[in-house]
Amino acid sequence: MSEASRRDTDTTAISPLTTERKIPTTMCQHQPPCPTAESADREGARLVAHHPEQGWSLLCNGVLLFEDTGELLPDGQIIAPHRPLAAAR
Ligand SMILES: [Zn+2]
Repeated sequence: MSEASRRDTDTTAISPLTTERKIPTTMCQHQPPCPTAESADREGARLVAHHPEQGWSLLCNGVLLFEDTGELLPDGQIIAPHRPLAAAR
C-alpha cells in the first residue's frame, strides 16, 4: 500500500465565510450586518427601498414593512400590524 494521504497545508487559510453556503436570503453588505428576517429585531435592518406613496418599505433582509407596521417576510409569512399603543389611547 502506497496510498498518498498528502494534504494541502493551506486549509487554515480558508475563510469560514466561503464554507458557509446558506441560502442567500439577503445580500446584506452592511457592517454590522442587518438582523435577519427570522430575527425578532428584523425591523432594525436598513431600508433599501422606501415607497411612502404606496405605503411600504423594503428592508435589507428582504422584509416588506408596511405603513401600518404590518410586515411580509421573504418566506411569505405575514406579521400583523403592531402599531404602538401610544397612538390608540
Ligand atoms: Zn444590510
